[in-house]
Amino acid sequence: QAKMLGKNRCVSFNLKYIEKLSRKSDLEYHLKRLNYEEELQVYYQPQFSIPNKKLIGAEALLRWNNKDLGWVSPAEFIPVAEELNIINPIGEWVMVKAVKQISLWNNTYGSGLKIGINVSPKQLDHKTFVPNLKKVMEENAVPPEYIDIEITESLAIEGEERIKQIDSIFRSLGISISIDDFGTGYSSLSYLKFFPFERIKIAKPLIDAISTDHYDLQIVKAVIILAKSLGIKTIAEGVESQEQIDILVELGCDEIQGYFLGRPVPADQFEELFLGDSITKTA
Ligand code: C2E
Ligand code: MG
Ligand code: MG
Ligand code: MG
Repeated sequence: QAKMLGKNRCVSFNLKYIEKLSRKSDLEYHLKRLNYEEELQVYYQPQFSIPNKKLIGAEALLRWNNKDLGWVSPAEFIPVAEELNIINPIGEWVMVKAVKQISLWNNTYGSGLKIGINVSPKQLDHKTFVPNLKKVMEENAVPPEYIDIEITESLAIEGEERIKQIDSIFRSLGISISIDDFGTGYSSLSYLKFFPFERIKIAKPLIDAISTDHYDLQIVKAVIILAKSLGIKTIAEGVESQEQIDILVELGCDEIQGYFLGRPVPADQFEELFLGDSITKTA
C-alpha cells in the first residue's frame, strides 16, 4: 500500500509539474500575440498621506484580459514577459498611458498627483527607456516631481555599481524613485546607502500582522525609524484596516496604500471615486 501511495504521489507531482509547464506555454503563446490596446489596461490605486488621509498619488497597475485565458495577474505574466524579452514594449506602453493620465488629471482637477510606475530592472538596460520617458513627460508637460518610479528590491543583488548607474539616470531626469516591497526578498540595508531613494514601500506581508504580531510591529517600527533617520519617506502597502492605519500613524509612517482606502480601478472609476467634483475643476 505504501508503495502505491508513493507511486500516486509521484504521479500527482508530475501532473502538477506538467500543468505548470503548460500554463507557462499558454501564457507565452498569448503574450507573443498580445494585442496591447485590446487586452491590456492600466488600473490606478490611490495613495494617501496620513494622518490627514489626503490623496497624494496613484500607482499604475497593469491588467491583462485575454479572451482565452481570462484575467491574468501581473504577478504571473510580468516574469514571463521578462523572459520573452517583451517587457520593454509592455513597460513603455504602461508608461505612456500613465503619464498621459496623470497629466490629464492634474490639468483637469488641479490635483497635483504623483504617478507611481512599476519598472522592471530589465527595462532600465534598454536604451530607449530614459529618452522615451523624457519625451512623454515633455509632450504631456508633466514636471518630474509628479513621476515616481517603483523598483523592486531584487535590484539589490545586482550590486553597487548598477545601483549608482540607475540612480544617476533618474537624478538627471529629476524624478523620484521608490523601493517596492521593502522587507521581502533580497533585503539589503546597505542598498539604502548606495541608492538614495525618495521613498520606501513597506511590503504588505510586513504590514499584514502589525496589529496582531509583536515582531512584525517592531520590524515595521524599526524600518520607519531607519528611513526617517536617512531622510527617506515611507509608504505602507496593502493596508486593509483602520486599526493598521492607527498604528502606522503612531509609528510616524508618511503614507498609505491599500484596499481599505481604495482598490486599483480603471481610470474613469478612479476619477469618480477619488477626484470627482469635490475638487474644483481648473480646466
Ligand atoms: P506591487 O507593485 O507591489 O503592487 C502592489 C500589489 O498589491 C498590486 O497587485 C495591488 O493590487 C495589491 N494590493 C494593493 N493594496 C492591497 C490590499 O490592501 N490587499 C491586497 N491583498 N492587495 C493589495 P497587482 O496589481 O496584482 O500587481 C502585482 C505586481 O505586479 C505588482 O506588485 C508589480 O510588482 C507587478 N506589476 C503590476 N503592474 C506592473 C507594470 O506595469 N510593470 C511592471 N514591471 N510590474 C507591474
Ligand atoms: Mg509597485
Ligand atoms: Mg509592492
Ligand atoms: Mg512588486
